[in-house]
Amino acid sequence: MNFEAVKQLIKEEGLPSFRLTQVREAVYKRGISSWKEASSLPEALREKLEKEYPILSFKVSKIVCSHQDRTAKALLTLKDGLQIETVLLKPQDSWSVCVSSQVGCALHCSFCSTGKMGFKRDLTAEEIADQVLFWFQYVRKEKLAERISSVVFMGMGEPLLNYVQVVEAARNLSNPDYLNIGARHISVSTSGIADKLHKLAIDLPQANLAISLHNADNAERSKLMPVNRKFDLDDLKDALEEYIAMTGRQVFLEYSVLENVNSRPEHVRKLADWIYSIKDNYLLHVNLIACNLGRGEKTPERVVKDFASGLKAMGIGVTIRKSMGNDILAACGQLAAHK
Ligand code: SF4
Repeated sequence: MNFEAVKQLIKEEGLPSFRLTQVREAVYKRGISSWKEASSLPEALREKLEKEYPILSFKVSKIVCSHQDRTAKALLTLKDGLQIETVLLKPQDSWSVCVSSQVGCALHCSFCSTGKMGFKRDLTAEEIADQVLFWFQYVRKEKLAERISSVVFMGMGEPLLNYVQVVEAARNLSNPDYLNIGARHISVSTSGIADKLHKLAIDLPQANLAISLHNADNAERSKLMPVNRKFDLDDLKDALEEYIAMTGRQVFLEYSVLENVNSRPEHVRKLADWIYSIKDNYLLHVNLIACNLGRGEKTPERVVKDFASGLKAMGIGVTIRKSMGNDILAACGQLAAHK
């Protein structure tokens, strides 16, 4: 919702400022999905808002729920007709939203459906934050929860290539007057746009950072993730050292295990060597995930477990993460505005 525009309207109409508090309360605390539900507001204001100030900046075209786990995916149609996807998931005991930051993506990672769409445009801060507002309305309406507890920028697009809008959206999401999602419950995942990490450490010092690494060999990583030709593992190492020195925060290294591509013992060794080459590497933690190979198919569990054991034996902190929403193409690398 464009809260600033509503604020301006209330001012222009000469309405008392408590009306703004009522708007905030209705939208961000009760999760109304239509202004008609804002019963505390005068009828004339409700009508004007309903006509000219939509609560969400997109139409919800489709919602699909997973039969396997607690995951749902929505297809959203933006004002210009372009479409994006956003995911609601409950990995543990609270609800999290995975937001898209761009329509499509220019980076063409070989394992990613979004990359195959190509890049269409950046999302605005409002379009990003509204994805969370939409799921907030949903969990309340479906009586699943009172609130959304965390947000991950891991949907369609590379967040750090839409930097200004992503930072604004993250700040709005953690604003106590809006959805009040703690800054430490917001995670930004990047394919490794090394030259933005310094600024990120200043602008969102409390947010969690995840790097989609997937390979610690430059030539192999460049094949999987062409962005590595611009920012290679040395650039990433330097940027991470600086980021850690500035924030003192733990950084997550995401590694999607693809059998026979990046899963062999030499990959374990290279990953461990790269981690050990980084200053303060005790703050690096590897998250392993079984790569989604297609509908319902994943890298076998034993391959992921062997990789994890190899890393542990070399003293690296590692967790195997559950890939969720595989059956509805909502898992990592699968979002692509499916009709
Ligand atoms: S994995 Fe992320 S950065 Fe790579 S193509 Fe997909 S959306 Fe873009």
